[in-house]
Amino acid sequence: MSRNEARAQAVFEITTGEPIPVAKPSALENIWASDVFTLVKMEEALSKSAYKAMKNTMETGAPLSPEVADDVAAAMKTWALSKGANYFAHVFYPLTGASAEKHDSFIVTDASGKAITEFNGSLLTKGEPDGSSFPNGGIRQTNAARGYTFWDPTSPAYILETANGATLCIPSVFVSWTGEALDKKVPLMRSNSAMNEAGTKVLSLIEEGEIAPLNSSCGAEQEYFLVDAKFANLRPDLLLAGRTLFGAAPAKGQEFDDHYFGAIPERVQVYMEAVEEKLYRLGIPAKTRHNEVAPGQFEIAPYFEAANVAADHQQMLMTVLKNTARQHGFVCLMHEKPFAGVNGSGKHVNWSVGNATQGNLLDPGATPHENLNFLLFCGAVIRGVHLYGPLLRAAIASAGNDHRLGANEAPPAILSVYLGSEIEAIFEEIKDGKLDGAGEAGILNLGLAQIIPFAKDAGDRNRTSPFAFTGNRFEFRAVGSQQSVSGPLIAMNTMLADSLNWIARYLEAELAKGTEVPAAVVAVLKELINEHGQVIFGGDGYSAEWHRVAVEERGLKNLPTTADALPYLHDASIKALFERTGVLSPVELESRYEVYAEIYVLSIDVEGKLVVELAKTMIYPAAMRYLTELAASGAGVAGMGIDLDASVAKTIAEETNAMMVAVTKLEEAATKEEFASTDEHMQYCATVICALMDEVRLHADALEAEIADEQWPLPKYREMLFIK
Ligand code: ADP
Ligand code: MG
Repeated sequence: MSRNEARAQAVFEITTGEPIPVAKPSALENIWASDVFTLVKMEEALSKSAYKAMKNTMETGAPLSPEVADDVAAAMKTWALSKGANYFAHVFYPLTGASAEKHDSFIVTDASGKAITEFNGSLLTKGEPDGSSFPNGGIRQTNAARGYTFWDPTSPAYILETANGATLCIPSVFVSWTGEALDKKVPLMRSNSAMNEAGTKVLSLIEEGEIAPLNSSCGAEQEYFLVDAKFANLRPDLLLAGRTLFGAAPAKGQEFDDHYFGAIPERVQVYMEAVEEKLYRLGIPAKTRHNEVAPGQFEIAPYFEAANVAADHQQMLMTVLKNTARQHGFVCLMHEKPFAGVNGSGKHVNWSVGNATQGNLLDPGATPHENLNFLLFCGAVIRGVHLYGPLLRAAIASAGNDHRLGANEAPPAILSVYLGSEIEAIFEEIKDGKLDGAGEAGILNLGLAQIIPFAKDAGDRNRTSPFAFTGNRFEFRAVGSQQSVSGPLIAMNTMLADSLNWIARYLEAELAKGTEVPAAVVAVLKELINEHGQVIFGGDGYSAEWHRVAVEERGLKNLPTTADALPYLHDASIKALFERTGVLSPVELESRYEVYAEIYVLSIDVEGKLVVELAKTMIYPAAMRYLTELAASGAGVAGMGIDLDASVAKTIAEETNAMMVAVTKLEEAATKEEFASTDEHMQYCATVICALMDEVRLHADALEAEIADEQWPLPKYREMLFIK
């Protein structure tokens, strides 16, 4: 079957196929966290003292003894075997952004050759995957490949089931033989500790009573596309690069905004319900689901959790989305820009910090101007974004996300903070050294007697802001859909820790002068806002005017590409930040630069090769075949004495020639190997290679618009986006 026949066949099969049989969803109370070794299960299975120790560690991060680890391992093994697991795996989170796991069987043989099961505290606590193939950015030489995984008791173990087996999964950290972090979990946990330490210092200066340990929370909204697998399998670009490298815009895209929050197609809803059931079993609190802006685009958001657990759950959620899609005949695309011309996918990372005694420190409450804790923590965030904007930008830098940032659909590549009118007004007052609550929110009264009046939120929403205050948390909206949330969380926690340390020092000095607490807080915040207030912006982040003002008047950085952003990881202030807070040593930070830069360069390299291959082996042959057909029919018609307009054939010939000229240029450009530095190599990819890929595409897409539909070799946008 030729490729265009396969395409027609796919359309036929999708539109006439039987729906997959639907199992009724199980009752939530029967399945919730049924595959998780929760505290509740531990309470039943562990001795009182071991249970108390585990609970304390999970809630406060207190150390655990090896004896408790032995008890937990024994209980975990009994539970896992009862669930049919015969393997266990330390699951860890290398710098690739993916999850990794090494499976070990519970089975060992004894002296008589009998098979028995074994699992104890040391097997639970420590694993030693070879791991030499994971990117480490120069931390390990290949001949010194030792890497260790260590159990993270604060993130619960769980069972992962396949059709015919089950594995006990143990969330773990991944470090080198010399103790350097090779993963995303270690720095995330360290950043949380740094924030806790600094936040506690600030709170202890102004609070009378107890201050419980502070923790950061994260709720991530995941956007994704679903494309029928029959189409995706015919698109090598989707399979290998995760995005379409060719494809003419369909007559109808998202202009009507009719997909956003529209009725969810039944086949998709069945898929979503299957995903949710799996997530509930894994104790992942899937909470909202809806259609997104682009046709074929959807969103799922779990309820927020402690950042470390939320990050592990986010990784699992992405895996479940992808695997379940295959079972339902879909491919789930999590690339930031799978289709040109329609919206891409992001992952809004909602983030707050709080503790058991003071609550959510980013909750302004009913009278924000009296809420000193809130004002200090909010001020700390403002200072952080201003000082470390380039770090936040670097934390979300990837070849995929570059397609969103800076385009008029996603937040711009300039990091600013949106506060909403009420909170902004309070900080304006603070600039003048006052704090009397000028802009209270008030009541939202619709004038409809039957609708209950509501207290108004402290400001509207701003979807053009990359970093927006949304009532009781900040929402980092510029994160890419396929990215791990750990990078952004590390950056946010660390910048917050730094600001809180600064505040603690300043506040302590003010208080030492004998200043009353409220006046001292105002003095600190006045200084802070005068230094850093220029990062606050409530207007249209997409506008050309903001791009000018931000850079020229406010001194903010506009970093459109990964090649522009990643070099900031070498910035002295960012190095000092990570070292001071103990989150990343200079060696660990440098390794991250190396790994992310390499992934960027490789991604563009793969795309470039694919563009060349598809243009030469699929699009060029299709153009030639159609041109031959046109020539034959033209000649035939001419034989009848009829003159046929040859403009279509001419256009096809011209576009094909132009495409092949660009292909040759791209092929040549891709052979360049010598670069003065990694920075230069990245810039070359961002400017030269990407531009040439665009050039090839321009002509290829023009050909798609001319060549007979029945001869086009690749599934078209209108098919992939609209046929479900
Ligand atoms: P929207 O699309 O309106 O921004 P969603 O309900 O889709 O909101 O997602 C909001 C996300 O923010 C959810 O994951 C939610 O649990 C999370 N969230 C809510 N409150 C907090 C908080 N205090 N800290 C962190 N995340 C939060
Ligand atoms: Mg949102």
